[in-house]
Amino acid sequence: MNDAPVKFEVFPWNENFETGIARIDEQHKILIALLNELASSLAHDDSIEINRVFKELTEYAEFHFECEEAIWIEYLGNDSWLSSHQLNHSAFLPRISELKNQKTDKYQSEVIESIILFLIRWLAFHILDSDKRMAFFIENIHKGMAFDEAKIAAERKMGGSFKTLVETIMAMYDSLSSRTLTLMRESNYRRKIENELHIANKKLRQANTRLESLSITDSLTGLYNRRHLKSVFLREIKRARRDKLSLALLIIDIDYFKKINDHYGHTEGDRILVQVSETLRKNCQRPSDYAFRLGGEEFCVITSSQCLQDTIKFAEIIRAAVESLKIPFTPDTTAQCLTVSIGSCTRMPGETDTIDSYMSIADKNLYQAKANGRNQSIASP
Ligand code: GH3
Ligand code: MG
Ligand code: MG
Repeated sequence: MNDAPVKFEVFPWNENFETGIARIDEQHKILIALLNELASSLAHDDSIEINRVFKELTEYAEFHFECEEAIWIEYLGNDSWLSSHQLNHSAFLPRISELKNQKTDKYQSEVIESIILFLIRWLAFHILDSDKRMAFFIENIHKGMAFDEAKIAAERKMGGSFKTLVETIMAMYDSLSSRTLTLMRESNYRRKIENELHIANKKLRQANTRLESLSITDSLTGLYNRRHLKSVFLREIKRARRDKLSLALLIIDIDYFKKINDHYGHTEGDRILVQVSETLRKNCQRPSDYAFRLGGEEFCVITSSQCLQDTIKFAEIIRAAVESLKIPFTPDTTAQCLTVSIGSCTRMPGETDTIDSYMSIADKNLYQAKANGRNQSIASP
């Protein structure tokens, strides 16, 4: 997602604004840059930034007026032009505070917006009319004209077609700046909505992932559930066929678990199921090992790339690991501690093999292991 805000200018600089006096033009550009910054902070609804830029702008305006007046004094002395210019300057800040402190039902942003529109109009007029007139006058003096002659020539230049041009530019800036402000606000609003949408999408994706993992997980033990076994087995049998690997399926069933429940109670029974699950998880660390709870006290492990002998060893490791938990058993059986019986099927899957064919062989072997006295594993292809 592109987070960079669109850059807008409520007051684009134009060479028509140049007075020809480098220092003054430089300061005008800074004033206008600050004005654009103010409008941009308004569009972002950033009140701290609005106040900071606003303060900087008014302070800079004051500094600029002083510099400008010093230049005018140099050329105009105490002429009435200077005093009207000064009057113009001194009216600027009070007018701004008046706008800022106006008693209104409007939102702060609307107040700032009205100030920005005022600033644009004021600055454009100040530069195009008043400052240009002065600049023409100074230019005339430099050309060697006498004081009054230079004033008259500057007045003449400011009238007629130039006056029309100023009025046209002013009208254009008025409509341009209010349209830009609207555009800025809309663009900012759209960005906000897009951000919110992005966050909502992310949350939705997280919720979906969680839901997905819940739907394949057994809630008591955290192992995969029977439903997930079907899809993992399907994937693994395809892979085994393609890569010509063997695939093993082990059913692990706790011995005499009903007695455990009867003796210690269901809650303790659950705790033991979790312990056995942890043991399975610890022993299924290879990327191709998967442990599942089929239900009750029955578990299943599938693993690939193991020959029959490997599977026999693997089943023995699991059996011994459960035994070594040394979970004490009930007094009415001969067993010293909790054990499991394991039946498994290991083979390179043929075309007709399915989860049911693997299950039925593993189940038959498990039945045999139980019949042979439990706490043992039986494997076959
Ligand atoms: P065998 O050695 O032949 O496997 O005997 P068994 O008692 O382990 O097998 P049986 O199938 O007779 O009993 C399984 C018991 O598992 C029955 C039930 O009380 C218990 N059980 C099933 N699901 C849960 C469970 O979620 N929590 C607990 N605590 N017990 C369960
Ligand atoms: Mg059992
Ligand atoms: Mg059982």
